Amino acid sequence: MRFEEVIGQRDLAAKLRKGANDGRIAHAQLFVGAEGSGNLAMALAYAQYVQCTNSTAEDSCGVCSSCRKHQTMMHPDMHYSFPFSSNKADVASELYPEWRKAVSGNPYMNYEMWMQELGAENKQGNIPIKECHAIIKSLSLKPFEGDYKILLMWLPEFLGAEGNVLLKLFEEPPQKTLFLLVAESTEKILSTILSRVQMVRVPPLLQADISTKLQTDVQLAAEEADRIALLSAGNYIRAVELAHNEENQYLEAFRNWMGFCFQKKLGQAAAWADTYGGNGREQLKGFFLYSLEILRAVMVHPYLAGKSGLNSDEEAFVGKFSAIISSHAQGELLYNWFNKASYEIERNGNAKIILTDLSFKVTRLLK
Ligand SMILES: [Zn+2]
Repeated sequence: MRFEEVIGQRDLAAKLRKGANDGRIAHAQLFVGAEGSGNLAMALAYAQYVQCTNSTAEDSCGVCSSCRKHQTMMHPDMHYSFPFSSNKADVASELYPEWRKAVSGNPYMNYEMWMQELGAENKQGNIPIKECHAIIKSLSLKPFEGDYKILLMWLPEFLGAEGNVLLKLFEEPPQKTLFLLVAESTEKILSTILSRVQMVRVPPLLQADISTKLQTDVQLAAEEADRIALLSAGNYIRAVELAHNEENQYLEAFRNWMGFCFQKKLGQAAAWADTYGGNGREQLKGFFLYSLEILRAVMVHPYLAGKSGLNSDEEAFVGKFSAIISSHAQGELLYNWFNKASYEIERNGNAKIILTDLSFKVTRLLK
């Protein structure tokens, strides 16, 4: 993809282009940015730019032979590596068709979306030793065309200790070989790898950039787009999720659930937990992110009523809810419980159990 297609991040893109044009291209770079920041999109645009035979100071040309191959993700000197589950393939290249489809469809996808695309939602992804050996082999070949051979590794967090077999490549790479690693955080990356890469930090997206994109791509009105951009905290995945949720089914669900808890209808709360807990992981993650947003608004309601970026339905609910909460400490306790539940959901905890447990706790608290 071209830089032009990347959402926002104009300063970073300019810096990357300038570096490339000045001949400063570090052979191993780590693009680090939180979910929804566009770290993968940025690395793809950078790779295309470096390999473009007719680039300008502004962007890759989009029409040269190299660019056209990039746009279909079929460039012979561009290799991809990513986590996958062992029941799907031995090496990443066997999954290139699925990878191309997923990335062209949404270069802002996260790990869960990718595993879903693979039909391996409940399996553990990994970048196994066989894949590391395949990388070493493919990079030992001469480039087919152009200058650079590039390996883009998405989510090197999934590289276990066996990833150390790649160190020699990082230290003494074959000529004109680039490693672009794309990670969400540096915490889970092997320290031996971290010490050998140049860091490229991809910040969360600006509200204004998310809003503009929502207006053009999802056809939201400016006011609604601004509101969602504010709630999404720089995460484009979350923004799209919220935008596709205009009828606000999350609010509906949260309101019903809390209603049962408040009226001590434990049977109904448990039944709700059982049904809602059957939703997909992404939906549940979205629900918890949303609930946390509402609970945060409940806590600051006495000071910030009307200025929270919520719509009128949400504002009304938050008003009522904050009247039920007896103290700030109680609100904080609720928030912490939801935060913990959200964390457990993200780590594949049993949603029905987590929601049921939360129902009991909230009912006891809200009496
Ligand atoms: Zn080009």
